[in-house]
Amino acid sequence: MTSIPTQSELSALALDTARRCGVDVDGLTGDVVTRSPINGQQVTTLGWRDAAYVDEAVGRAEEAFRAWRRVPAPARGALVKRFGELLAEHKDDLAVLVSIEAGKITSEARGEIQEMIDICDFAVGLSRQLYGRTMPSERAGHRLMETWHPLGVVGVVSAFNFPAAVWSWNTAVALVCGDPVVWKPSELTPLTSLACHAVLAQAIAEQGAPEALSQVLLGGPEVGQALVEHPGVALLSATGSTRMGRLVGPRVAERFGRSLLELGGNNAAVVSGSADLDLAVRGIVFSAAGTAGQRCTTMRRVIAHTSVVDELTDRLASAYGRLPIGNPMADGTLVGPMINQRAYDAMESAISAATGDGGKLVAGGGRALDDVAPDAFYARPAIVRMDAQTEVVARETFAPLLYVLPYDDFAGAIELNNAVPQGLSSSVFTSDQAEAELFLSPEGSDCGIVNVNIGTSGAEIGGAFGGEKETGGGRESGSDAWRAYMRRATNTVNFSGELPLAQGVDFTV
Ligand code: NAD
Repeated sequence: MTSIPTQSELSALALDTARRCGVDVDGLTGDVVTRSPINGQQVTTLGWRDAAYVDEAVGRAEEAFRAWRRVPAPARGALVKRFGELLAEHKDDLAVLVSIEAGKITSEARGEIQEMIDICDFAVGLSRQLYGRTMPSERAGHRLMETWHPLGVVGVVSAFNFPAAVWSWNTAVALVCGDPVVWKPSELTPLTSLACHAVLAQAIAEQGAPEALSQVLLGGPEVGQALVEHPGVALLSATGSTRMGRLVGPRVAERFGRSLLELGGNNAAVVSGSADLDLAVRGIVFSAAGTAGQRCTTMRRVIAHTSVVDELTDRLASAYGRLPIGNPMADGTLVGPMINQRAYDAMESAISAATGDGGKLVAGGGRALDDVAPDAFYARPAIVRMDAQTEVVARETFAPLLYVLPYDDFAGAIELNNAVPQGLSSSVFTSDQAEAELFLSPEGSDCGIVNVNIGTSGAEIGGAFGGEKETGGGRESGSDAWRAYMRRATNTVNFSGELPLAQGVDFTV
């Protein structure tokens, strides 16, 4: 039987680990209770900021911005380089906090910190590659070019399920672009955010950079909302539910701020008749049941050709039956807890709605380990075989719940893939090159991430990350996502000694 750490064991581990990362644990005063999803019990109590404090924090960040934008970008990269080194030193500590607060299994929690180290590497390289273009001017003796400048204060609002990496994707890139960051993390993962911030604060102090380049504001949605509404926040990067994005997007737009929205997903894999089913089963099980179904890129739908749908469902159900569920920090566990009871209840109610629509529960469902962890919510990853994509299937249920749907022709499979409001990630398993190319083509998947013979989750930092439709349209992390963190200026320089006007306009007085 899996043993679940006691309240005092987990609390002591969390506080010791946070202290090792540089958090002033003894100074955590306040009466807001934080809990671990591992046992559902209290980790510690701490204080939250109120919305009024946001103005002060943004003011400090604006002052830091005025100094930081004058530092050459490669020198800004040196700070991020040091940050990456310190993250590597604290990799295991930070991973422990991610496991305790978000419930991730150790290897995925370490993966999350590795992703932070990777984005630092990327950003250091970027600090020497913030390229602008030079275009041929239509006028003789003129030069036309664009330059990229630091944008201003970046506000980051983040979700519980990537309590460290999402902030670092924004922060490493923002810092080399010349921008300070004010972070409102999820209220469910405060120690992880304090520890991440403490590691960066050490790098900032060592490099002699402005202290207010990084600030973390613990608090509820009202603190996030104050950041959203603050005119001093030039870019607001918000990761979380579509419900939250619907509130945030228009508010930022109203004040002509810039927003970067990374919202919910409802990701599918199309499994064609020619697919390598061994590969497909492995890819689907990791994407659908990994992280206890709590990634934005978690696979929620499989759309399988009628010739393979029965065999695939049987093989998935059998793999689900072997998934070790338990303490995420114990060796061998592959499925940890859900974040809280609300998440578990949402899964159960989605299963009832799906079976009410004619679906058949073929694996999992229900609670595990309630005898040893009565305050925690360990769900048995579930598979529901559906005949049609009903309303509940088209919705994001943030849980390890996978719907399997059949298709007859490949165009119909693409239609099903696209017939949901979200547009984050998608994949096709096929050995037919024409199918793979069609899926990747303009007539194919309408998502921001489109994969072939690989699951929907587990992206690398080198590519731009994000999705379309109700996923919000934002892109962060690699490729040219850095442009969102900078201001573009178009410059025309006249060295002709005359003043010819563009388009041949004559304005001689
Ligand atoms: P959530 O929307 O409940 O909370 C996310 C953050 O938004 C929290 O910090 C919260 O305090 C803040 N917030 C809530 N209301 C706000 C408001 N009105 N103004 C400002 N801030 C507000 O999301 P969650 O439950 O923490 O995370 C799960 C959701 O996040 C899922 O829908 C998942 O798909 C999504 N997610 C998306 C991505 C992505 O990159 N697309 C990544 C991770 C998670």
